[in-house]
Formats: sequence, structure tokens, C-alpha cells
Amino acid sequence: MHAAPAGPAARPVYGSRAGWGLLESWNTAGAGVYGDLEHPRTPEGGTIVRLTSPSVETILDGYRLGSDQGSVAFCAVTLVQGIDDQGSLKRILVDTGHTGRRPVLDAALRQRGLTRDSIDVLVCTHAHWDHIENLDMFPGAEVILHPDERRYVRHPHRNDSGCPEWIDAVVSRYEDRIRTAEEGTKLLPGVEVVAAPGHSAGTIALAVATTDGIAVIAGDSIQNTTVAEQRRNSLVFWNERQANESVAKLVAIGDIIYPGHDLPFRMNPDGSTEYLHDFELTITGVEPGQPGLTLTEPPFEPEIMAGIEEQRLPD
Ligand SMILES: [Zn+2]
Repeated sequence: MHAAPAGPAARPVYGSRAGWGLLESWNTAGAGVYGDLEHPRTPEGGTIVRLTSPSVETILDGYRLGSDQGSVAFCAVTLVQGIDDQGSLKRILVDTGHTGRRPVLDAALRQRGLTRDSIDVLVCTHAHWDHIENLDMFPGAEVILHPDERRYVRHPHRNDSGCPEWIDAVVSRYEDRIRTAEEGTKLLPGVEVVAAPGHSAGTIALAVATTDGIAVIAGDSIQNTTVAEQRRNSLVFWNERQANESVAKLVAIGDIIYPGHDLPFRMNPDGSTEYLHDFELTITGVEPGQPGLTLTEPPFEPEIMAGIEEQRLPD
């Protein structure tokens, strides 16, 4: 799928693109143990894959599906597996989806031989309803949230449909398990938090140094391929300039992007995007050609929350 970077010359590509620190930390975490991004060849020509490199896998696909009757809001749910400093396997779930996806989330875990108890850490890219409603499925997991996001949910803007006031009740319920994390917080060797605000006050992404390159799990800092190609966030609740800067930052870091509401994709050198797997979705309750059913492109212009200029973090 991805041509392995050939030889030592390829190494600086990962670390220097955005002047960003993952490779550095990667090296101090144990280059040659975890950080073997060069895919050394065996004498027989096969590729050595270091089993200690963290891996990223989509558990539930995200969709950009919309309607004139409101948002369907299927966000991606992503699993990161890696080895901690003690040599133990840890599983991080990035976002949990909304309660309507609970049965399919359970089934997707089961398909992989996992249960709700298999998850050690939940990363909330941000506290929008469609990303955090299933927190309660994982009672043993630590919850990672950016401190600005934690502050914001206490007094969200009256127009913030992504984060209505009741979100604070959901988050408060897990107060004893919340660990706030900022830019550069290392969750595992090769797994780091990247601050990517704008869509919401404290949106975070996760950067993972996999054997295929750096995977960025972007949440709604990059909702879909169009956002990555245009460098414009499609739905902004906090700050439009920050949101667009975050898109550019994450695109610069990532070889592979796991967006909030689309399939994972690779960024090509010419700026185009390429999905990593095929689209799959069955919709029930409507039929092709049904009178009144209209299928259209999503709007091109980003949606900006009314009153966004009043946005402040509460004291
Ligand atoms: Zn969101």
C-alpha cells in the first residue's frame, strides 16, 4: 500500500516536516526498539516489522453523511495498540461515537477478540456529543481530554449544538478518571498528543509513529478529505483561523490521516488524497428513486457557529 521509505535518507522526512518533535521523542524512547521506520530488509528480501511499533486501526468508520433534517454524526472510532515503558500492551480508543452506534461498537470489538474491558485509555479528541456519548461503556479506562476543552464544557456558548450544557454532566461523571493532556503529552512510546484547536476550544489529535509512517488521528480538526485538500475546517465552533491552522499543522505531520467523519486516507505529495479502504454503508428506510429522496453534494462553504466572536474560555 505504501512504499517503504528506502534507506537512512528517508528518516528525516518524518521528523522535520513540521518541525515537530515526535521523531526526537521517538529516538529517546528507544530508536531501534520502537522507532524502526526504515523497514530494514532481510537478506531474503522480506520486510522486518517490529512488533513493538504502535499500530492504528479503524474500529468504526466515520461518515460525512448529512441531511436536511440534521446531522447523522457518525464519527470514526479508532484503536491504537502499543507497548508501554514496562513492556505491557496498552490499548487506546480514540473517540467512542454516539449512543446510536453502541451495538456496532460492541460488535466491532468482539470481532477483534476484545471486550469493553480491553480498553485502557479513551482519548476524547473533543467533547462533542457525537464523539463522547459512549464513555460509560468503558468504566475502567482513563479519559484523556485537553484542559481547555474541560474548561469550556462548564459554560458552553448558547449556540453550541456540538456541546450543549448537559455535556458537563457527562464529563463530570468521569472526573476521577480524567487526565488532561496537552501538546506533546506522550501516552505511549511513539504515541503523542497534538494540540489542534479551532473546531472546538480544546480539540486534540493523536500522532502515532507506525511502521507505515506517522498516522494522525485528527478527530474533527480534519473532518474529511475535502478539509485536508482545501485546508479549511468544515464546521467551526470556536475559532476559524485556529481551525484552519490546525488543519495545515496536522496535514504537515501526517503521512496517513484518520479524519473525524470520513475514511482514513493518505496525503499524496501533489496534495491529493487517497482512501486506505473502500466505502461501505447500508442505509435502510429509504429506497433508490423514492419520490422526495434527493442525493446531493455536501455544501462547499464551511459552517461557522453564529456568535462565534463571543467565544471565551470560562474562568
Ligand atoms: Zn465535533
